[in-house]
Amino acid sequence: MSSPDPECLFCRIVAGDIPSTAVYETGTTYAFRDINPQAATHVLVVPREHHEDSGTLAAEAPELLADVILSGVEVAKQEGIESSGYRLVFNTGPDAGRTVFHAHLHVLGGEQLGLFGRPH
Ligand code: 5GP
Ligand code: ZN
Repeated sequence: MSSPDPECLFCRIVAGDIPSTAVYETGTTYAFRDINPQAATHVLVVPREHHEDSGTLAAEAPELLADVILSGVEVAKQEGIESSGYRLVFNTGPDAGRTVFHAHLHVLGGEQLGLFGRPH
C-alpha cells in the first residue's frame, strides 16, 4: 500500500501537515530529526510513499528501500559521522519498541553507542 494515509503520522510529516526539522531529502525519501533523540545524532529516514514496515517495503518496492538506506548514508555524511561510525536500525514489532507504522530507518551516532540486544 503506497497511497498517503491521513491517519499516518509520518505521511502527515512528509506532507508538511505536521512540522519536522528536515535534514535531507530526495524525490523519494525524507529525513528529519527524531523528536526524542536516543543519541547525539538521531535522524529518521522515511520513504515518501506509505509502506507499513521494512519487510513490506522490501517486498513491494525494493528500489525504494535502497533509496532509504542510501539516504541514511548521505545523512551520516552530512552530519559528519561517516568516519566516527553510526547505526542504521529498522524496528519491527513490540519487542523492538516499534511505535509508528510507516517504514522508517533510524540513523544513530555522534557518540559511542550502547550495546544493542538485551536491556542492561
Ligand atoms: P519506532 O519506535 O517506531 O521505531 O520509532 C518511531 C520514532 O518516531 C521514535 O524514535 C519517536 O521518537 C519518533 N517520533 C514519534 N513521533 C514523532 C514526531 O511527531 N516527530 C518526530 N520528529 N519524531 C517522532
Ligand atoms: Zn504513512
